[in-house]
Amino acid sequence: MLEGLGSNLKDALKKLAGKTVIDKVAVDELVKDLQRALIQADVNVKQVMQLSQAIKKRSLDEEPPRGTTVREHVLRIVYEELVKLVGMPVEINLSHQIILMAGLQGSGKTTSVAKIARYFQRKGIKTGVICADTFRPGAYKQIKTLCDKVHVPCFGDPDESDARVIVKAGLEQLKGIEILLIDTQGRHALEDELIQEIIDLNAITHATHRWLVIDAALGQQARDQARRFHEAIGIDGVIITKMDGTAKGGGALSAVGETGSGIVFVGMGETIEDLEWFDPDGFISRLLGMGDIKALVERVQESIKEDEFDPNAMMSGKFSLRDMYKQLEAVNKMGPLKQVMSMLPLGGMDVPAEALDVTANKMGRYRIIMDSMTSEELDDPSVISGPRVHRIARGAGGTPEEVRELLKYYKTMKRAFKGLKGGDKNIQRLMKRFSRVS
Ligand code: GDP
Ligand code: MG
Repeated sequence: MLEGLGSNLKDALKKLAGKTVIDKVAVDELVKDLQRALIQADVNVKQVMQLSQAIKKRSLDEEPPRGTTVREHVLRIVYEELVKLVGMPVEINLSHQIILMAGLQGSGKTTSVAKIARYFQRKGIKTGVICADTFRPGAYKQIKTLCDKVHVPCFGDPDESDARVIVKAGLEQLKGIEILLIDTQGRHALEDELIQEIIDLNAITHATHRWLVIDAALGQQARDQARRFHEAIGIDGVIITKMDGTAKGGGALSAVGETGSGIVFVGMGETIEDLEWFDPDGFISRLLGMGDIKALVERVQESIKEDEFDPNAMMSGKFSLRDMYKQLEAVNKMGPLKQVMSMLPLGGMDVPAEALDVTANKMGRYRIIMDSMTSEELDDPSVISGPRVHRIARGAGGTPEEVRELLKYYKTMKRAFKGLKGGDKNIQRLMKRFSRVS
């Protein structure tokens, strides 16, 4: 989301570097850049104006704390105001929650329900789903298939045409579930009947949360949709889907503003794992290039539970091909490496884009190639000579290029992780967390 915004802001903030006194001209310029970036990202004009006013006023009125530079002073204000724009962090109690999902057809409700169920189930919470979509053909089958894959109980009745009846039966059936998600119908437009149904479902379920699902590609209509649903049931959280696409996401931010709530989750892809808990601070830090370690640490902690993972190897310059493979496996569990890396301040790292694209398929090939290596070679691949490359390739039923690619990849990773060890404070903190959880 707002990727263009990130680089624009960085440029704008650069202009303040080295300044010793804050001047109106510099702040005006920064605010103009910021406005342009936000409006390009589809953020609602009224919100943009409010934000700019606040930044201008605070930057000039507030006294920079002793010892902070002009740039730091303004950066902090920009940061705080942007955090306000994306809304309050949403908190959720983990027992006896009933979450009603609202949103138009195609917004990604059903997919998000499955992802969220999976998210909480992974935390060891008893999670269940009721399919209250009686409009879309095959709706029950769609959600049931997704739930079955991750063993989450799913209640529905494809023969019943009244969602209220289904939900009542579902509540009875799924007693004892801690977090119950209710998938609803969407239709194409906001018809009165649809609104009435969601009002009824809210009353029947005594939902503890009502989350609105918004497609990131939606522009300013997001605001109207949000208003209708908010007036009907009181939205207390927004889920932005399809953030993996080219969408700018600013329209969805308007929806957040309209409901006065915050973003709960962000959908980042089509598979059930492609969901991120939204952390406003982290998000804005990332946007401003401060690097976000919180989100990464959360994911790392979850993956580590399932996997053996050697944090020290990641930090130490000398790590073996085996270590690398182990890390790749763990990192793959966290989600695409690219996504994980995007949470780190990439400034100091020299990782070529293709190195971040290790597919499961390729992992399989690497495994086979590694199986044709000797134990000594696995410990220290630098001993592998030209003729050995050919021999290994033949043993693995592959080409020498493939073996070289693996070796090159290993070298890149080794260099990248070695680079991590030194400089950046965030990275050092992250690494400390790595060692603590292991
Ligand atoms: P619903 O009608 O609101 O229930 O929407 P669905 O959950 O059926 O999703 C509509 C389409 O959007 C499906 O093709 C999903 O695979 C796709 N989709 C949902 N969330 C995401 C996401 O975060 N990223 C991508 N790329 N596609 C998504
Ligand atoms: Mg659906």
